Amino acid sequence: MDLPAPLPYGARASVSFALSIAVPDRVHRFGRDGAYRFLGNALPLLSVRDGRGRHLDPDVGFGESFYTLAGDFRVVLDHPSGLVVPATGTTTRRPGAPGRTVSTSVAHGVRDFAWAAGPFRTRTVTTPGGVRLNAYWTATTSPRGVAVDLKDAVGSVDAFGKRFGRYPYGELDLVMSDHLDDFGSMEFPGLVLLWTEPEGSAAVHEIAHQWFYGIVGNDQFSSPWLDESFAQYANQTYYREPTADCRREQGEWPSATAALTRSLGYYADGHRHEYVQVVYGRGACALHDLERVLGGRAMAAVLRGYVRDHWLGVATTADFKRAAQAATAKDLGPFWAEHRIG
Ligand SMILES: [Zn+2]
Repeated sequence: MDLPAPLPYGARASVSFALSIAVPDRVHRFGRDGAYRFLGNALPLLSVRDGRGRHLDPDVGFGESFYTLAGDFRVVLDHPSGLVVPATGTTTRRPGAPGRTVSTSVAHGVRDFAWAAGPFRTRTVTTPGGVRLNAYWTATTSPRGVAVDLKDAVGSVDAFGKRFGRYPYGELDLVMSDHLDDFGSMEFPGLVLLWTEPEGSAAVHEIAHQWFYGIVGNDQFSSPWLDESFAQYANQTYYREPTADCRREQGEWPSATAALTRSLGYYADGHRHEYVQVVYGRGACALHDLERVLGGRAMAAVLRGYVRDHWLGVATTADFKRAAQAATAKDLGPFWAEHRIG
């Protein structure tokens, strides 16, 4: 759709349209499970147009193809009062028509807006660092798993806030279900959807995405490593996993063409089997190796500066390489080549 006249830079306009959404019958980030509804990636978002044209990359069925800019949302949901509705942003509720509640969620600087609805059980805690965590779980989700997720979330949101910059969204919703085994877990700004078993979930990885994808945006289709490898690195750092030998443990590259800076298009085009090993395994390992090259303090400063410089913006591989190179007199060229970071 084109506006009647081009909008000058900095000018404002409004666009409105009616939309009805049928939630697919599948247990998924955009789907339903019995009385529960998950509405992630359900709302249309503005596409990005830059020097390389308009970005409308396809959903390839794995990973995330999304590339969006940060914006402000105010979403009003008028729903039956018996439904609990976790949502991106800070939510306030007031009575609506008889038997109904109006929930209003306000979020600033978010790249997407997600919500869920259902007879969730709930609990709210505030972390020592002052972040309000709202836990929502389905009737069949293990209470032990919920407790593990809450403990991991409290620890990691504060740890990442200290390490990368304070969590900016006030509250964070954890939406937990034991039925997401065919899907897994997913990050949205201010809301993480977690496949939760009695042992817990990928809560720490998904919370790390609040910084890498959420606060520091990237084109997730062209550079999946900028969100997934960084989230995985942060996750392993949080759990203090031993990584000294990670490169040897990864073994050979899966192919001559494999590289950390490949797009989802490359993986979808006959290289699907390389995706997890390269983007999660080798990508996180490359960042641990970089930390060993730079030293722990310098790596922490690089990451903090990188997050600050791209706060609610968009970063590229070149931006990260420049930030790392500025922290050392050593030429990182051979390091990038060895880790296939182009
Ligand atoms: Zn991830």
